Amino acid sequence: MLELINVSKTFGSSKVLKDINLQLENGKLYTFLGPSGCGKTTTLRIIAGLENSDKGSQILFNGEDITNKESSKRGIGFVFQNYALFPHLTAYENIIYGLKVQKLSKEEIAKRADDIIGISRLDEHKHKQIGQLSGGQQQRVAIARSLVLHPNILLLDEPMSNLDAELKESMLESLMDIQKSLDVTTIYVTHDQKEALLISDEIIVFNDGNISQKGTNLDIYRNPSNTFVANFIGDNN
Ligand code: ATP
Repeated sequence: MLELINVSKTFGSSKVLKDINLQLENGKLYTFLGPSGCGKTTTLRIIAGLENSDKGSQILFNGEDITNKESSKRGIGFVFQNYALFPHLTAYENIIYGLKVQKLSKEEIAKRADDIIGISRLDEHKHKQIGQLSGGQQQRVAIARSLVLHPNILLLDEPMSNLDAELKESMLESLMDIQKSLDVTTIYVTHDQKEALLISDEIIVFNDGNISQKGTNLDIYRNPSNTFVANFIGDNN
């Protein structure tokens, strides 16, 4: 379980996260949903160890205090909006890059890569350069590159925002497939309530540095805890 206990963050004189408390179970797909500037990405960056939280904040993973643990030792994979793939390498080379850095054996690298390439349906694209792949294929490579490292937690920050509606839907479906087959705890950040309702085991609705509600899609849709959640979930724009 991932636990955030009284997590706050202040930039200058502005408190952008206000004593957040959250418990996330292993193996589920969670969405952080909320309008621009409400603190979703900051929370993700704090979980990843890319940003320090204010004094008094605590983060636990399976009971271990990771509040001050180095980012690279947290076993967390991220996929950001721009994917940050290496353009001069093939899909396969991108996927195995982190495994080579870890100096795993050739056999182990080949096995892990084959597994994830199969799950991500990238077999026919694995020897293509990144520039020869569609946006959706590039995104699958970015997700595969994170998952091949067997992270405890996968963090995705608005990874679909550059894609058109049709591609987005098929990508969301393949993300759900991959997530369920590997059972990796996943947090997906979005301001799009339709995306959140489609994919999440549970949604966490942020508003102005606070969590307004945490619940299943049905809970949130049927029993919004306040007018902010009701308006945000009901907003079809
Ligand atoms: P979006 O959907 O637009 O990405 P968000 O909900 O992810 O928004 P955050 O990026 O977490 O929001 O930002 C929360 C608040 O913190 C915003 O007001 C933002 O301007 C502020 N903020 C974020 N990073 C910094 C920083 N490095 N320095 C100062 N203020 C920051």
